[in-house]
Amino acid sequence: MTLDPQLAFARRMDRSDGLAHHRAKFEGADTDLVYFDGNSLGRPPKSAIGRVEEFLRESWGGRLIRGWDESWLRLPNEIGDRIGRAVIDAKAGQTVIGDSTTVLLYKLARAAVDAQVARDPARREIVLDTDNFPTDRYVLDGIAKERGLTLRWIEVDTSSGVTPEQLAAVVGPQTALVVISHVAYRSAYLADAPELTRIAHDAGALVLWDLCHSAGSVPVKADEWGFDLAVGCTYKYLNGGPGSPAFAYVREDLQDVLEQPIQGWWGTTDMFLMGPEYRPAPGMQRFISGTAPIVGMIAMQETLAMIEEAGMPAIRAKSIALTEYAISLAADWLAPLGVTLASPDDVERRGGHVTLFHPEMREVVARLWQQDVIPDYRDPGGIRIGLSPLSTSFEEVHRGMAATRDVLKQVLLERAGLA
Ligand SMILES: *Cc1c(COP(=O)(O)O)cnc(C)c1O
Repeated sequence: MTLDPQLAFARRMDRSDGLAHHRAKFEGADTDLVYFDGNSLGRPPKSAIGRVEEFLRESWGGRLIRGWDESWLRLPNEIGDRIGRAVIDAKAGQTVIGDSTTVLLYKLARAAVDAQVARDPARREIVLDTDNFPTDRYVLDGIAKERGLTLRWIEVDTSSGVTPEQLAAVVGPQTALVVISHVAYRSAYLADAPELTRIAHDAGALVLWDLCHSAGSVPVKADEWGFDLAVGCTYKYLNGGPGSPAFAYVREDLQDVLEQPIQGWWGTTDMFLMGPEYRPAPGMQRFISGTAPIVGMIAMQETLAMIEEAGMPAIRAKSIALTEYAISLAADWLAPLGVTLASPDDVERRGGHVTLFHPEMREVVARLWQQDVIPDYRDPGGIRIGLSPLSTSFEEVHRGMAATRDVLKQVLLERAGLA
């Protein structure tokens, strides 16, 4: 029997993959389970397990409250700077980790619109798109209500994202803030971040980038692209674990102008002074509110070390090869069954996952989960294939796509009353 040429291709790709050795560093990657959801919750790095245990035993157990002074107090800034350097190309002193993405979005967006309205009361609009991640839409809706501002919606197709033409058509002297996801969570549309930032700036607006689906899979150049503000998850491609703290980036010259709304003791000039009133610290410290979730900061450092070793360009190159491969398998095996691509075809406009549409995908995904093939389902009819460059192999993609084909065939036979 001759080997399936697609499987032969996968094996060749795995053999020549310069990042292949990272896969063995992840818990569970040596089993037959297919994980297509590293863009929602990354696999745990094996070394993180020992690190967390060592932390609990030696740092927490041994150092007790001395741990704060000895090292923990600075961790939000130190890991933030490391994310800045390795993941979003930001110079030190502009990135911290701490709250959830949702809370950081609120803090930065509120700070930004308040500063804009104070500077120019005519800037009363927040621009966002109809397919941004729910939390982004909800947070901005809340801020608009709180501050009497207007949301200006860009209508986007669920298999695409915000284009420069669309943004240019809605920004103007009334715009305070623009909030866009760099990679759209549903379609994987990769926004032209430098161009969109330039368009917003030309209109006098600030931009807040949501990097949740790009951090760790698509290169970001926060400083070079002129970002004002950004937030991003660490439990997706950075494998920080469920609920690991998100990061916030604030451009250096904006830091002392912005006043974030959750004024806590960690963000003051001297937290141990415990003074009568809140005095925001200079720099990034003021964007921190309360006690940092230290245990949740351990696992992501293991992935940051891998990213430092691999470099984002190599990670992006593998990410592209993985999505191209998944799309070619979909064309061979799934298109004949009526499946269509709900992600950009153009690699330049596509992030690290692939969404495929078929009306039966809800059922298909439910059955795949039962056989240890784990993609995600996103309405309408979308199977989302998340491909983590450090932990996914080409053979894993082959296995998962073959299972998807077989399950969809079975569902279609049952629907036709033939099985
Ligand atoms: C995953 C994700 C979030 C998640 O926010 P949390 O506060 O961590 O729940 C936010 N925005 C985008 C674009 C995401 O993909």
